[in-house]
Amino acid sequence: MVELLDIAGQDAAIGRLQRAMASMRRPHALLFAGPAGVGRRTTAVALAKVLLCDQPASRANKGRLADLPEDFALKLACTTCPSCRAMDGDRHVDFHLVYKELLQYHSDPKVRERVMQELGIPVIREFLIAPAGRMSGRGRGKVFLVLEADLLSEEAQNALLKTLEEPPPGVTIILIADQAAGLLPTTLSRCWAVNFAPLPAEVVRDRLIAAGVDRREAHFWAAYTAGSLGQAQRLAEQDMYRVKSELVERLAGAGEVGSAELAAYLTQTADALAERTIAEFKKAQDAKLSKQLARRRATAVLLGLIASAFRDAITLATAAQRALVHADQPAAPQALAKRFDPAELARVIEDLDACEKLLWRNVQPTLIWDNVALTVAGAAPLRL
Ligand SMILES: [Zn+2]
Repeated sequence: MVELLDIAGQDAAIGRLQRAMASMRRPHALLFAGPAGVGRRTTAVALAKVLLCDQPASRANKGRLADLPEDFALKLACTTCPSCRAMDGDRHVDFHLVYKELLQYHSDPKVRERVMQELGIPVIREFLIAPAGRMSGRGRGKVFLVLEADLLSEEAQNALLKTLEEPPPGVTIILIADQAAGLLPTTLSRCWAVNFAPLPAEVVRDRLIAAGVDRREAHFWAAYTAGSLGQAQRLAEQDMYRVKSELVERLAGAGEVGSAELAAYLTQTADALAERTIAEFKKAQDAKLSKQLARRRATAVLLGLIASAFRDAITLATAAQRALVHADQPAAPQALAKRFDPAELARVIEDLDACEKLLWRNVQPTLIWDNVALTVAGAAPLRL
């Protein structure tokens, strides 16, 4: 398990948490806000380990966290007590993950059938408010970690207000959200916010290289994910670099080969990716991922890669002082910048964005690919 001081690139957030833990009025409701994949959840779990530890260790900062004095006493998990071992084994009775999919385990069968689009009252009542009021299993309080808190419904937030305001003794609640703005002001005012910034590209790159990813590839994913280590690791693990390299090369030549061939290639690639995701999902979680959902996800990933090549073309066409994301394949954005003027490039990016939204409204990926291929080949504006 990753310990608090091993988290990459989030020293400011960790420093703020250390100050909070040392203060007389330690906050009991926290909000970790920031983009996905930058360490919000890893930090929350590591913090929970410290809070639940039987004998937390104290260590002088000695320059480890730049924002804190040298002699600041950092509070860390001992890593050896039964509580720490339970956290490592992912079986701590006082650590509760709260997420929208818990709906399927709700005690009321009627509730279980509801659509899981938001984090609603049933989940919050049964899996947070009720257990927060019960005794701590190991006697050192409880920690609740609410994932995707941006999806909390208004009713659920209102139901949670009292618990956030004054949690039962020893209870700490950590909300994780992409954007604090997605929550009600009344919720925000009761939470102590910690912001998680995107990681510097070098941090992402170096972590990937340390994990054995090729330097050129690591460089690309660090730029592409704009500081999301989690996303970069996932994409690298899925061997997506090979896919992206071929895709970008095809985009460069799309003007010559015609849209039908490009559409066929895009459809096949998305299908192959979807099949692989389904197989990997089954292996990892022993669960089924629907083919439709897997195809949508694969299509969204490819659309994102295509859009990034067009963004690079705008950078070139407008001579903007910005590094290319596809610096490893500059010929592709160069070709696109020749084929389209900046206004057209911007329109294609908007269209690709619109395509991604349509994906979630049950438009068939093949229809999307036919249109994308026409647009990319420069033959026609997108019509959906
Ligand atoms: Zn411990």
